[in-house]
Amino acid sequence: MQEELIQNLREALKLSPQNIPLRLTLAEALLGNNRMQEAEAEYKVVLESEPQNIQAKAGLSKIYFAQEKYSTAIVILEDLIELKPNDVSLLMLLSRSLLRNDEKSKAMDYYKRALQLNPALLDEELDQYLRKPAAPPQAQGEMEQLLESIEEEVRSMERPTVNFDDVGGMQKVKDEIKIKIIQPLLHPELYKAYGKKVGGGILLYGPPGCGKTHLARATAGQINASFISVGIHDVLDMWSGQSERKLHELFELARRRTPCVLFFDEIDALGASRSDMRHSANKTLINQFLTEMDGLDSSNEGVLILGATNAPWHLDAAFRRPGRFDRIIFVQPPDVEGRNSILKILLKEKPVDSIDYAALAKQTPDFSGADLRAVVDVTIEDKLRESFDKGIPQPIRTKDLQAAIKQIKPSTKEWFNTARNYALYANDSGLYDEILEYLKIKK
Ligand code: ADP
Repeated sequence: MQEELIQNLREALKLSPQNIPLRLTLAEALLGNNRMQEAEAEYKVVLESEPQNIQAKAGLSKIYFAQEKYSTAIVILEDLIELKPNDVSLLMLLSRSLLRNDEKSKAMDYYKRALQLNPALLDEELDQYLRKPAAPPQAQGEMEQLLESIEEEVRSMERPTVNFDDVGGMQKVKDEIKIKIIQPLLHPELYKAYGKKVGGGILLYGPPGCGKTHLARATAGQINASFISVGIHDVLDMWSGQSERKLHELFELARRRTPCVLFFDEIDALGASRSDMRHSANKTLINQFLTEMDGLDSSNEGVLILGATNAPWHLDAAFRRPGRFDRIIFVQPPDVEGRNSILKILLKEKPVDSIDYAALAKQTPDFSGADLRAVVDVTIEDKLRESFDKGIPQPIRTKDLQAAIKQIKPSTKEWFNTARNYALYANDSGLYDEILEYLKIKK
């Protein structure tokens, strides 16, 4: 039967020798029949015309493994895994090859990666060396251990105690987050009933210090979710050389700690167009990020993805496709009511006299939330000094805050100098209309 199939395939190939799928079918049939050398020859023909053909490379690596040419298999597999980082069977084959080649610690690394993708995996030989004793419940324990070590590395994994009440102003942004990501998480069936796809993330952009990170943390607190905060620069700096893998581990960690808000700061560092960066992300990392976001290999159900950037214009349009950052929200400097409530939040539970919040809010145009926090910090320092001098605690008064306001320069204006140019001259499909509106520039 098999013999006949192989014969037919050979005949067909004579008629169309350039037909690559056909040649691959023949090679697979030969491999399945343990006819290694013939299979090897066919795969090599394919690679002559398509040097990056994944199936042919994978086939060759299996052959070399079977022929105990482990170091050759390793070279091919390491290459392949760059292209297909989440292919469990390739990861397993690489791990086995490394083990036979006496590279135990690398073997362990790849086995762990495969286990992360599929915790139910079992491989007796690898288990014997790398995981004792081999039993399915152990897989879970191993997994947990592994995740704990990643958690330690991330360190920023937390259960926030702040919620939306701790975020002043930003009503529109809060509403968007509620509708776009909180409600779907709490009522997935309702969204499905209306045929609305759940998933995707929100990208927050705007001048620094205006509460993007604070809001992301509060979103987690609002629904009692875990919060993982990742700076893309950390992924690039701390984990250089293994960024793709670390990124995958971060997403895996979030998937196992649902509900979870996974927050990426400085997301513009993933922008391929950046030239002014110390080093920007490479294509593989960007693709890895997009694949993880799409959740094709593993479901992102229960993971809320939020991104933040001060420079959205560096991001490729691929990030804005449906299911990715398909909502882009401008987080603007707080308006007068926003500043009023931010000041109240910042002074909550502090020793205060009666404070004229409305007056202070009016006196702080262009102040970001972070600037207001600096005002409060300076005031408190002064008050402490005064309290020590006088020997009794001194409550904070409106005029103390006013004195501090004079010392702090509002920081948001500078950002708008740059943003304005992008909004005027690179405003793809009105992406930055909100900036123009804020600056009261007519479109
Ligand atoms: P961004 O991520 O936009 O650069 P952050 O969220 O880090 O800004 O803001 C810095 C600090 O300023 C926060 O930790 C918080 O104390 C304060 N802050 C900013 N915006 C707000 C706000 N809307 N409500 C309360 N505090 C705020």
